Amino acid sequence: MLEKLGNAIKKATDKIANAIFLDKNLVNGIVRDLQRSLIEADVNIHLIKELTDKIKKEALDERIKGIEKKEHLIKLLHDELVALLGEDKKLELKKGQNRIMLLGLYGSGKTTTIAKLGNYYAKRGKKVALVGLDVHRPAATDQLEQLAEEHKLQSFVDKKEKNPLKIFDSFKKDLKKYDVVLIDTAGRHSLDGELIQELKDIKKNVKPTESILVISSDIGQTAKSQAEKFKEAVDITGVIITKMDSTAKGGGALTACAEIHTGVYFITNGEKINDLEEFDPKSFLSRLLGMGDIDALIQKIRLVTDEGTQGEIQQRVSEGKMTLDDVIEQVKSMGAMGGFGKLKSMIPGMNSAKVTDDMLEGQESKIKRWEHIVKSMTPHERENPEVFEKETSRISRVSQGAGVNNSDIRALLKQYKMLKEMIKESASMDPSQGFNQKQMQKMMKKFGKMKKVRF
Ligand code: GDP
Ligand code: MG
Repeated sequence: MLEKLGNAIKKATDKIANAIFLDKNLVNGIVRDLQRSLIEADVNIHLIKELTDKIKKEALDERIKGIEKKEHLIKLLHDELVALLGEDKKLELKKGQNRIMLLGLYGSGKTTTIAKLGNYYAKRGKKVALVGLDVHRPAATDQLEQLAEEHKLQSFVDKKEKNPLKIFDSFKKDLKKYDVVLIDTAGRHSLDGELIQELKDIKKNVKPTESILVISSDIGQTAKSQAEKFKEAVDITGVIITKMDSTAKGGGALTACAEIHTGVYFITNGEKINDLEEFDPKSFLSRLLGMGDIDALIQKIRLVTDEGTQGEIQQRVSEGKMTLDDVIEQVKSMGAMGGFGKLKSMIPGMNSAKVTDDMLEGQESKIKRWEHIVKSMTPHERENPEVFEKETSRISRVSQGAGVNNSDIRALLKQYKMLKEMIKESASMDPSQGFNQKQMQKMMKKFGKMKKVRF
């Protein structure tokens, strides 16, 4: 249930992507939202502070401007989150027999995960055996046997013997022909001396190639101390975090393991046999954010923000020299937003920007029409569109020349006026920063309504 966290990060990414003007307030807002959701995911407060301090510092670094800053921030946020999730540690199978022992507390998900792993490796062509060494709970062996049967896996259990070492010894010969031997062990309510001793004895006898601690994600950041204790007592080679589907605290468990450099091999996210996945921080985050490659995203952002053009237009406007060509240029850059209906789904915030398809529809043909119109104007008219207001006969002349309706010209003139007003409103803005999201939105809204305007 890390959806909330995903949404929060999405929102932060989005705010950065859309708001070209990254002022202190905006950055603080982003950081606050981010902090809140990371806390909800039970990520350690110190880690959160480190991450958000970094973002704040970079965001307000005056040396990086405009689009570069946005890219930089999104990448930073992404990279820091990946780092927070830890290294990409894979469970590499060794040549010969792999004896993979799972250990952990009661109910952490050992037995079900054994079945999932068995299925996982069987599907990859390995000869798999499941061995039940949980001798304390009678139901445990039944559970393992049932799961094995259900998924056509070979299980080795002994319902009478109470000594796990003897059980393993009795199967040793039969187990020789298996590539992957998955060993289920008993848990306790806590890691007590008895459990430590039992695990140590089993390890000595089994000589596992991997000893994996199974942690239920609902313990959140407590995973840190739990993993540390197990590491110290019986030495573990990696971790599997279970039940990611049923808690919001998964982020805490994952980042806790990363903090102590304990690689997370797999996560499980459901009770079904296939609800197991290799844990790769990068792809995990991408999926959490519901977006593809971060580099692709940045490219798209670059595509729609032609900083140079916007800066020039604003420069001219501030000098009182905006022309109709500038309007078209500006609208074209918004048209690019329409063209990237695809981007809308890539950056979920585009949806929340309330840029509806209806608004974007027909933009291209409109712009083409406007370009014709401007070509039919005299240079004086282009640079001083106000003359149309004074001499409306000019409108008919141009519309005839361009083969459009008078209303098309009026729409263009209205757009010009509106743009001029808006730019005036934002005159205090840093010209290199372009429009911010609110202004864009306002403009898109007005722009969308244009079709219906008659004047
Ligand atoms: P063990 O005591 O460590 O062997 O834990 P079990 O494998 O018996 O699992 C304990 C409970 O957690 C069972 O009811 C499982 O179905 C459930 N469980 C295990 N993994 C997951 C998971 O990824 N998602 C959910 N929702 N439940 C799980
Ligand atoms: Mg069990």
